[in-house]
Amino acid sequence: MKGLYIHIPFCVRKCEYCDFVSFPGMERERDAYISALISEMELYRGESLDTVFIGGGTPTALTAEQLSRLLLAVHDNFDIASGAEITVEANPGTVTDEKISALLAGGVDRVSVGVQSFNDNELKAIGRIHDAETAKETVEKLYAAGFENISLDLMASLPYQTMDSFKHSLEAAVALPIKHISVYSLIIEEGTPIERKYKDGVYKLPDEDTDRELYHFTAEFLRRRGFERYEISNYAMPGYESRHNLKYWTYAEYLGIGLAAHSYLDGMRRYNTSDIKKYLSGSFGEDETILTDDDKRGEYMMLGLRKTEGVSAAAFKKLFGIGLYDSYKAAIDKFTRAGALEFSDGFLRLTERGLDIANTVMCEFI
Ligand code: SF4
Repeated sequence: MKGLYIHIPFCVRKCEYCDFVSFPGMERERDAYISALISEMELYRGESLDTVFIGGGTPTALTAEQLSRLLLAVHDNFDIASGAEITVEANPGTVTDEKISALLAGGVDRVSVGVQSFNDNELKAIGRIHDAETAKETVEKLYAAGFENISLDLMASLPYQTMDSFKHSLEAAVALPIKHISVYSLIIEEGTPIERKYKDGVYKLPDEDTDRELYHFTAEFLRRRGFERYEISNYAMPGYESRHNLKYWTYAEYLGIGLAAHSYLDGMRRYNTSDIKKYLSGSFGEDETILTDDDKRGEYMMLGLRKTEGVSAAAFKKLFGIGLYDSYKAAIDKFTRAGALEFSDGFLRLTERGLDIANTVMCEFI
């Protein structure tokens, strides 16, 4: 079955590092945006889905009524499998009792909370709207309301972050009733306010070794507390891996609805417009690419190697009709010799060393 991603491009305020398609304010456009989303959903009416992910932006920046309308439309337009995973991203400071009720009534069973840090000076430096205490309260409130599948996002390599402050964030995270953690490093994107501050020397970037040290520490720390790493940046208690994100990493089909969303359907990637005026006027699609077999194989490898279990040689052969080794002999030999790849139990995977240079390895497969 397919997965569905829905993009909500609204936030309370723009974070300093953010280059996602998301806008502060625009309260007046939000009802019209939900109407446009529903019109786009109607184009795919009847599709069977077993995962839904409402992301952004900040979906919980919508009102309870808007969330209810959106979730109702998802159930009206699609055939949602029983036991489907339905995730909504939430930001501390935007979650009210009414919104929680709307999410529960709409069948949401997983909430992914963007916390990023439990240190107020770091949160302030990256322009988050909340402090550490609000983040804790939000997770506890969601749990008390009945969400037992809660994920939390943290960021590494933040301004002012030290090994000790990062450990504090990890400790605070695992003290909360969560089942899943994502840890991504801050990326300085061009044109963001934080880029200017780095260029002006206001903040200093941690070097690559410190970044790697944080990652190694994270994996070990979380493993000891019952969270297994199952993807480069994602850790879960057994059975709580993100089923929706696993669709991306296993190259399954998914439908993307909303501004700047993209889909992978029938061997084709479809891109929606990033222009909100166009989107609101009902002009959703912007571009599409028919993937060649080479493209598909390369993407399959690049995404599959993100998983710690790696890429199944049998699944590769079944999908592409050609052996994994026959397709990528040179790259596999090169990185196996370098100790970055290993093949065992029918899976090709990145080693510990390979995880550190994952991008370099993956590039060889594209
Ligand atoms: S909350 Fe997320 S999407 Fe919104 S501005 Fe911050 S980083 Fe960007």
